[in-house]
Amino acid sequence: MRGAALIEYTLARDDERQEMTENRTIDAADRENAAREKIASLCRDIDAWGCPRCRSERVYRLGSGRLRCGGCGYTFHDLTGRFMGLGQLSPAQWLDLIALFVDEAPVKDAAHRMGVAYNTVYKAMDALRQAILHQAIDARQILEALRDWSIGSRPPVFGVMEQGGWVFVDLVPDVDVSDLTIFKLHFRLQTSRVGSVVYTGPLRGYLGLLCRGGPERFTARRKAGDPGLPLDEAGGFWTYLKDRLGRHQGVSAGKFPLYLKELEFRWNHRNRDWQDLQDRLARLALAFRTEGDAQRRT
Ligand SMILES: [Zn+2]
Repeated sequence: MRGAALIEYTLARDDERQEMTENRTIDAADRENAAREKIASLCRDIDAWGCPRCRSERVYRLGSGRLRCGGCGYTFHDLTGRFMGLGQLSPAQWLDLIALFVDEAPVKDAAHRMGVAYNTVYKAMDALRQAILHQAIDARQILEALRDWSIGSRPPVFGVMEQGGWVFVDLVPDVDVSDLTIFKLHFRLQTSRVGSVVYTGPLRGYLGLLCRGGPERFTARRKAGDPGLPLDEAGGFWTYLKDRLGRHQGVSAGKFPLYLKELEFRWNHRNRDWQDLQDRLARLALAFRTEGDAQRRT
């Protein structure tokens, strides 16, 4: 009897386990379906819905969850042709990642919570920053400056301006780090530092200029920093930025503009509610298309 009861118990436990596994699979499938619908609706918001090959909007969903174009017959998935489609994250994982990014979760924590590799999250968060940068008015100039910098020119300089509650962090054309040295040595430009970033007194209509790396030939006394810079006295955005620059000591010169544009975006949307900010960021990411696709469009 005891043996039979044990077998019955074991079978019941097996059924329970099987049911739990099935439920989890159904939950995951439901979440993916909901995420696909959410992404499709965000794409429609920005007029970026349709076939990535021929742009037809006559698209229908197959039983497998993929999409098929009624115009050219191309079969694709929700993230085809977008940067979001290049990694290994599913639509539901992307939405989770965007939520964690909005919360400023560190890469390590986000990777742990999502159960995916650190590098996958690192690359995805980098793509989100790239998407933010690409929608900036001065995106083209920043990308050119970064390209020039990578082949040996000096790091670009950014200016901070506040107007009517909005903040602008612009690339300042025709000024590089060596000009800051000249302005400091000959025109008494005031400077100070946070980590590896040098910032200055007002110049060219900006409250202050910023540069990662900064003038390198300063003596210790000159590096020490001038007190009472208008940026430091302005509070608001600069306090917010300075706090984060202090935390991101290790940001490379190549990534610095991405962080600046990310923080400009966050500050300018600081009064939005959490869901709205998440949707805005998701739309930016969805609008960020891969090169090949951009070429096909033009
Ligand atoms: Zn098509």
